Amino acid sequence: MVFGDRTMHGKMMGTSLTITEIMRFTDRFYQDTEVISITTDEGVHRSTYGKVFKRSNQVAHALLHLGVQPGDRVATLAWNDHRHMELYYGISCSGAVLHTINPRLFPEQLVYIINHAEDRIIFLDPMFLPLMETLADKLPSVKAYVVLTGGEKMPDRKLLPIHCYESLLSDQDLTYEWPELDETTASALCYTSGTTGNPKGVLYDHRSTVLHAYAACMPNVLGLSHDDVVLPVVPMFHVNAWGTPYACPIAGAKLVLPGPKMADGESLHALIEGEGVIIALGVPTVWFALLAYLKESGKAVKTLNRTIVGGSACPVSMMEEFEEQHSVYTHHAWGMTEMSPLGSVNRLLPGMGSLNASERNEVRAKQGRAPFGVDMKIVDDDSNELPQDGVAFGDLKVRGWWVADGYFRQDDNSDTHDGDGWFSTGDVATIDQYGYLNITDRTKDVIKSGGEWISSIELENLAVAHPDVAEAAVIGIKHEKWGERPLLVIVATEGVVPDETGILSLFKGKVSDWCIPDSITQVDEIPHTATGKISKKTLREQFANYSFG
Ligand code: AMP
Repeated sequence: MVFGDRTMHGKMMGTSLTITEIMRFTDRFYQDTEVISITTDEGVHRSTYGKVFKRSNQVAHALLHLGVQPGDRVATLAWNDHRHMELYYGISCSGAVLHTINPRLFPEQLVYIINHAEDRIIFLDPMFLPLMETLADKLPSVKAYVVLTGGEKMPDRKLLPIHCYESLLSDQDLTYEWPELDETTASALCYTSGTTGNPKGVLYDHRSTVLHAYAACMPNVLGLSHDDVVLPVVPMFHVNAWGTPYACPIAGAKLVLPGPKMADGESLHALIEGEGVIIALGVPTVWFALLAYLKESGKAVKTLNRTIVGGSACPVSMMEEFEEQHSVYTHHAWGMTEMSPLGSVNRLLPGMGSLNASERNEVRAKQGRAPFGVDMKIVDDDSNELPQDGVAFGDLKVRGWWVADGYFRQDDNSDTHDGDGWFSTGDVATIDQYGYLNITDRTKDVIKSGGEWISSIELENLAVAHPDVAEAAVIGIKHEKWGERPLLVIVATEGVVPDETGILSLFKGKVSDWCIPDSITQVDEIPHTATGKISKKTLREQFANYSFG
């Protein structure tokens, strides 16, 4: 219904939701709260929000000096550390767009996204210099490179023009007159790694970023406060480290940034113990590494209270190991680059405390419920909404304040966005009557056997619970009678000859008999994408000629 000129507007201030406001708030209320980093050039670095933001002012001056205009894309190829944090605020708050680049992309993908974004400046960790030297002559938009290090550590360089970050900042004023930005000003750009076709750019704005960070702080989402010490082991180059560089300052939480030590159990343990980390976030691979180190060394993580695990499905066996061996509670979470990324977080509802262990695990294995700000539904092939009964499964669609409504420089988004404002995630899921989402597969990875769908994620989660299995992936193999049947591909635990019968018997009683993989095959390594997810596409190519015999 349209009310026309009878609509009455409220008389509240229309202050823009900008990242600059986060900086102003945190600088006023939490300027002494620590930001600790592992850096590639000087080991552990201790800073505070106050110091970080002072240097963001210097970054803004440096950008002016380098000729950056509002709306220009300024790229970073960097790990999680204080300098990257300074750039997060310095670039976005000055009205330019922070383009975080995933250094693990293939060189041709790097060239594609830098040219597609038309990056003007690239700030890079010294370790990425050799890589950029091989690509620089294919990057016409890039006008300068800035190496994230101090003058004395500046490596030999072939790239031109090139600057040293610390020298560039040292000449700049510590105060900057930040522009009052419209809240829909683009703030950051992140490309999805895309298993098919070229990577696609997701362009965040100030408003979506602030709303996402606000929501992340809420008790039922990440539940952050100024009593917390947060370790994001999720890269700042991929979906803004799940929004922690914005949410932690709002909450006043101490931030511990692991630099390049992302999947190194020993370093993570040292950081957690040394800095008193309470909350840590990351993909399952990272926690496999930490748990293996703790097991091997017999060490404890005394302050760690909870982990938020997402990016790929978190096996229940991991949650149990964390809880039983280390008194750490695990929250399963789900999200996407297109969703900034938080889409759901698993917290048990009041009353669920009385569930028995297996019922409780069944709920905890799910990816959780959407926070206020995200709406979700599942649909069939004809886009009809399916019941949310925990049984019906279909394509997962979402909408909300921090969901992309199209891709950067892509006019036709009809493949992913329908006319009613919903985004197709490309995930297949169920949603139960309590709103808990359960991802069963990527649309492209579902296994169809005799007309029924088999969830590869469910099988993988069960397989990794076996001590002989270090990593598992399930793919569909062509089958004359059934169309497709599941094949379990495993990497065995180091030094172990896997007990295949034992592994297969693990599925009995846990899934229907017809879902149990027909066979197991062992490989040295399972292929991964640039964002660390199992690349089923590559695996299917590797097993294209496989037959069950
Ligand atoms: P990306 O945009 O690279 O962060 O990847 C997003 C995709 O990762 C989602 O669409 C899911 O397919 C997958 N994903 C993220 N979190 C989970 C999770 N907890 N369980 C299963 N898949 C997940």
